[in-house]
Amino acid sequence: MKVIKIGGGCLKDGPAANVIIDLITRRGKGDIFVLSAFYGVTDILISGIDLALSDEENIPDIISRLKGLHHTIIKELINDNTVKKQLSKSLGDIYAKLERYYYGISFTREATARMQDMIATFGERISAVILSKAVAARGGDSQYVLPEDLGMISDGKFMDASALMEKTGENIQAWLGRHMTPEKILFVPGFYGISESGEITTFGRGGSDYSAAVVAAGSGADALEIWKDTEGFMTADPDNIPHCRLIPKLTYEEAAELAYTGAGILHPRTVEPVKNAGIDIAIKNTYNPDAPGSLITREVPRAENIIKSVSYTTDVAILKIYAPGVGARFGFLSSILAPLGRAGINVKSVVTSQTCISLILSRKDIHAGHEAVQAIRPVPFRKAVVVTDVALVSIVGEGLHTNRGIAAKCFSAVSGADVNIEMISSGTSNAALYFLVKEKRLDDTIQALHKIFFDS
Ligand code: ASP
Ligand code: MG
Repeated sequence: MKVIKIGGGCLKDGPAANVIIDLITRRGKGDIFVLSAFYGVTDILISGIDLALSDEENIPDIISRLKGLHHTIIKELINDNTVKKQLSKSLGDIYAKLERYYYGISFTREATARMQDMIATFGERISAVILSKAVAARGGDSQYVLPEDLGMISDGKFMDASALMEKTGENIQAWLGRHMTPEKILFVPGFYGISESGEITTFGRGGSDYSAAVVAAGSGADALEIWKDTEGFMTADPDNIPHCRLIPKLTYEEAAELAYTGAGILHPRTVEPVKNAGIDIAIKNTYNPDAPGSLITREVPRAENIIKSVSYTTDVAILKIYAPGVGARFGFLSSILAPLGRAGINVKSVVTSQTCISLILSRKDIHAGHEAVQAIRPVPFRKAVVVTDVALVSIVGEGLHTNRGIAAKCFSAVSGADVNIEMISSGTSNAALYFLVKEKRLDDTIQALHKIFFDS
């Protein structure tokens, strides 16, 4: 049995979804399909929360936009009128429920994390119903099961939950034992789970990759496939380096590092559950299903020059905290980090020297982070400064720290391009080296690195 995750990019419109439905009906017997929402739907759902808060008269528009979007797709997927009627009955119930949540928010003038997470899951609830019906209309033996009914148990953290693997695995196996057959094509909405106290919690944006990994590990699947509208992991972002190449094989660590900085190929935590279970992840292009794609697995031959990919993110900013002797004052770091933690701000990385601590945060958190440390009393530092015009570059390849000359090669290429390195964060991972450059020098940096590691 395989677990296959279908991304929102493959569910862009009717024709795209048709391709998927054909593939699933032909090849998917006995497999489990974990779904994203149709393309753009989660964004509409989430932006609808603010619209509903500002004026309840916006709510009918949000609902009709969602109905319209899905209706256009259904028209191209399903011809049979009886099936269409059954489907519109099920969807009607779902839209009605969603509408009540929006009115709830508007009425109470409050969008709690609980409500936001509940609303965000509706795209996946809808796509599961539609795909399951579309496969049935083509004669497939299909069914869908919601994560709450499957027993996908989460730790209850809203918007950033993790699955409790042991319980979830027991529940999934019990459910499959009762319902699964070698003929059946099973659909599971991705993106969320349910806590032990019954709270619907999402795994963060892009979380259906992680859902699929949890289902694969929990069910003891033979393999996890991620179906996307791209080839797989590349040696660089094709926007910067049009001649970049596919990476045929990666280790779990390399994939995890690339998921963290790279161009959103995978949710950052996808690798965790399958790595422990020793299940491979294959990235497959739905437009070219027999192409090799990228395989993430345990035993991988090292690249000739160790480095597999050059990647970056611009979603970083630095909070620089200046204080004398910070490297020698015990408790100093925690006095800064604790208020950030209480404000719900994630610190991506910390680099310290004797006079300055640099915290790398997401750009969206930087102002809240700055305020949180400015509010500390008594003020424990001389000044706190925000730097936003930076980008984080990483070179990824397992073994880079234990092989001589890689860092030297990297930094001499960067300085050869006349780019200044603002900060280096040589992490604990043996698969990545990170550093920051000015954002306006990002493209030159990527060009220089790709050239030295891949073009010469
Ligand atoms: N639909 C959710 C999102 O857009 C989850 C996912 O697609 O992975 O973030
Ligand atoms: Mg995604």
